[in-house]
Amino acid sequence: MTRPIFPGSTVGILGGGQLGRMFAIAARRMGYRVHTFAPDVDTPAGQISDVEIHAPYEDLDTVRAFARNVDVVTFEFENVPADTAAAAAEFAPVRPAGAVLHTTQHRLREKLFLQGAGLPLAPFRIVRTAADLTCAVADLGCPAVLKTAGFGYDGHGQVRIASPDSASAAWQSIGCQEAVLEAFIDFECELSVVAARAADGDFVHYGVVENRHQRHILDVTIAPASVAPQVAAQAIEIARTVMETLDAVGVLCVEFFLTRAGDLLINELAPRPHNSGHFTFDACVTSQFEQQLRAVCGLPLGSTEQMRPAAMANLLGDLWTAGPPDWAAACAFHGVKLHLYGKAEPRPGRKMGHLTALGPDRGSALKTVLDARAATASIQSFT
Ligand code: AMP
Repeated sequence: MTRPIFPGSTVGILGGGQLGRMFAIAARRMGYRVHTFAPDVDTPAGQISDVEIHAPYEDLDTVRAFARNVDVVTFEFENVPADTAAAAAEFAPVRPAGAVLHTTQHRLREKLFLQGAGLPLAPFRIVRTAADLTCAVADLGCPAVLKTAGFGYDGHGQVRIASPDSASAAWQSIGCQEAVLEAFIDFECELSVVAARAADGDFVHYGVVENRHQRHILDVTIAPASVAPQVAAQAIEIARTVMETLDAVGVLCVEFFLTRAGDLLINELAPRPHNSGHFTFDACVTSQFEQQLRAVCGLPLGSTEQMRPAAMANLLGDLWTAGPPDWAAACAFHGVKLHLYGKAEPRPGRKMGHLTALGPDRGSALKTVLDARAATASIQSFT
């Protein structure tokens, strides 16, 4: 990287979701201007931006015009097509580079990359035909999880295969497309490491956090995780190896399964700020979003020091089922912070916001955040 992109410059974000919104908040706080590019209007990120460009990612002329008007481009959504990143790169640096996006937006490429780097991951087989799936199920046994190679997130594009005779239905249900079959891991817990890397190779991380999922969607993160020091050290070294091998500049999250035997297996990578790093917004000296900004603008990385134990609980659209949640009840809890993403339409499974609670220890932070979320259901209608 030549010289830093200083405050007063303009950062461009590909993608308009909540990750872009929190990135834009961090950027605006540090005096940057923000342009967003997304296929929708009035997006969570667009609401915070100076300029919101509304066009499909495939509209490469508009992508080029967007890139011409910014000093650096980053993304908040890894399913941005590779051609979009390449068109933007004609006019502005794209960080992390399009090659990082290319590897991590496709499960199969990502797994082959991790395997090639000698990193631990769940046993898997490549599936391109129904016959491949039959062999893969025979090899790996059941239960197993069939996942589409492209465009998967929050459990979309994946189906559990309980017995060999359900393989054919599973293959149909994912639309008979290229996929991977993964052995089902009977894990002790799920963990992640959010880390950042600068162009000069500087590496920082937010330690190891514990993640609990519901219906394949992240429900709660507890920071720090309660794991043996050698497990934490190994997870952090894996995150460092991943970022160095990919030559990634920015923030990246590595999600892990911790097996009952105490082994770490990588589940997946996200080359951007991650839901399991949202606690850093309230609990750390430098949030994952400010860290992304610093990394892509070539500023020194900030301290990742966590000031207090924290827990984060997602607020999904399901909370709105019986009426608007009672935000005042959640805000009444000491040490609880409310984040809402500005999405107009609450749908089941849709991430609408999150709560973070800080506490004297992990257990109290977790209890507070869960109690605060439960309290939002206490008053359902103001009519
Ligand atoms: P993914 O979208 O691949 O991150 O999957 C979402 C969630 O589904 C994970 O965080 C796990 O809770 C669960 N899951 C996915 N793959 C497996 C697996 N091979 N074994 C056990 N649970 C899994």
